[in-house]
Amino acid sequence: MGAVGMGLVDCHCHLSASDFDSDLDDVLEKAKKANVMALVAVAEHSGEFEKIMQLSERYSGFILPCLGVHPVQELSPEDQRSVTLKDLDLALPIIEKYKDQLLAIGEIGLDFSPRFANTDKQKEEQRQVLITQVQLAKRLNLPLNVHSRSAGRPTISLLQEQGADKVLLHAFDGRPSVAMEGVRAGYFFSIPPSIIRSGQKQKLVKQLPLTSICLETDSPVLGPEKQFCFFSGTE
Ligand SMILES: [Zn+2]
Repeated sequence: MGAVGMGLVDCHCHLSASDFDSDLDDVLEKAKKANVMALVAVAEHSGEFEKIMQLSERYSGFILPCLGVHPVQELSPEDQRSVTLKDLDLALPIIEKYKDQLLAIGEIGLDFSPRFANTDKQKEEQRQVLITQVQLAKRLNLPLNVHSRSAGRPTISLLQEQGADKVLLHAFDGRPSVAMEGVRAGYFFSIPPSIIRSGQKQKLVKQLPLTSICLETDSPVLGPEKQFCFFSGTE
């Protein structure tokens, strides 16, 4: 969440997650009471694009939609795998269709966690998927909402090589010195509530300029309390 005017913005959340199917109205009402004026809803795969667009129409101006293909594709909680170029086939035409309604392209990025990407081929395919979406965003003049895990430096390097200039890095887990390269490129960093249980994030925030920091929830994950949940792979 970044402070905008008199309210807060949750810069990265997963409102299309089934966790919210039964109580989304409640959650949004609570958010409004807590002075949240907008929520940026990101996507992970094409299967949830229509749901995000419907939510953004139903809560127009309050839920702001992003569409993108995440580096980890979760087909079910037990079945998570590294993204492939094929995953873009269904996604790109839908992004084009809604381009005028989108706030940003996301959630896109690199995830080199060994359990998802342990071969060079997988990492290279993640890069190609990211490059395609960065170039799409540049053509559509849209910013990027970016995931990186165990890939802080590769992500920031790739974004710079590709000439991305409107970038929000969410829940960044790289070294502060690497984050500072992003700061110099004008990138923003959104910090989730899990900072209260993460020494790494506290260290990062101490070094980031205040003007580069935004806030996010990444809900339903990365809350202040560690929770048991199946959805643990792609926060
Ligand atoms: Zn996320």
